[in-house]
Amino acid sequence: MEKGVGIAVVGAAGRMGRMLVAAVEEAPGAYLSGATVRPGHPWAGQDLGEAMGGAPVGVKVDDDALEVFARSQAVLDFTTPEATVGFAELAAQARLTHVIGTTGLEPAHLAHLRAAGRHAVIVRSGNMSVGVNLLVELTRKVAAVLGPDYDIEIVETHHRHKVDAPSGTALMLGEAAAEGRGVLLDQARVAGRDGLTGPRPEGAIGFASLRGGDVIGEHEVLFAGAGERVTLGHVASDRMLFARGAVRAALWGQGRAPGEYTMRDVLGLGL
Ligand code: NAP
Repeated sequence: MEKGVGIAVVGAAGRMGRMLVAAVEEAPGAYLSGATVRPGHPWAGQDLGEAMGGAPVGVKVDDDALEVFARSQAVLDFTTPEATVGFAELAAQARLTHVIGTTGLEPAHLAHLRAAGRHAVIVRSGNMSVGVNLLVELTRKVAAVLGPDYDIEIVETHHRHKVDAPSGTALMLGEAAAEGRGVLLDQARVAGRDGLTGPRPEGAIGFASLRGGDVIGEHEVLFAGAGERVTLGHVASDRMLFARGAVRAALWGQGRAPGEYTMRDVLGLGL
């Protein structure tokens, strides 16, 4: 019987890893082909369902990604930049669709992904939700219309465990604002103001990061002009949102030419 697309989840014990497992299991046209944890993790060798504290699901948790990739058509990866670079190499060898939600990637990590994208379909996004990707498009458009007289500030709030700042989503919004204005984000970016900063540099795109509690993810883009403010925002209230987007990307990637794609491609956005 045809089981659909075999999708593996790496880092299955993580906050997002658990959601990704659930999202694959509920998705029509897909089945869970494997789940991995870091070598030596207590879940390794256990049935995944039991490891998660539920009923057995008949999938053994592995700590050898290569073995799992060999029986999969796609892999969902929300781990760490170092781990993602390693998985990209293996995914390229196995010619998989590699869906990357990991954030905090530096230029050196991205260079590895570019090389892997010559052999694998890579879909990478700092945020896999439809709403945020729409917000990115709106930000690009509003920045282009309002022009440099409006100061742009991006405010994000996340749970206390988040290790990178600004969030990957805030950076996506910043990139879109910069594109809309026709400037480079690297040249406009101002983050973490403290002390005697002096006045706001003209044309700056500012970032502020708040951390606390169990906030899943909130983003606001503020365009502050003389006499008025325009705000665009998004609030995520369920991590399954990102997981379902990742599964959608994995299914979309089947049969595509190798290369690097984003959720904009998957969702067919582009206003
Ligand atoms: P988390 O709970 O820390 O999960 C990360 C998991 O990856 C951990 O279980 C970790 O295992 C595992 N891992 C690390 N290296 C590994 C390796 N070599 N092999 C196997 N597993 C490995 O973090 P999270 O909240 O789920 O977030 C993960 C990433 O996704 C972050 O970068 C976050 O910003 C991003 N994220 C993206 C989106 C999006 O839509 N794009 C949405 C939410 C989160 P150990 O604990 O054993 O190290």
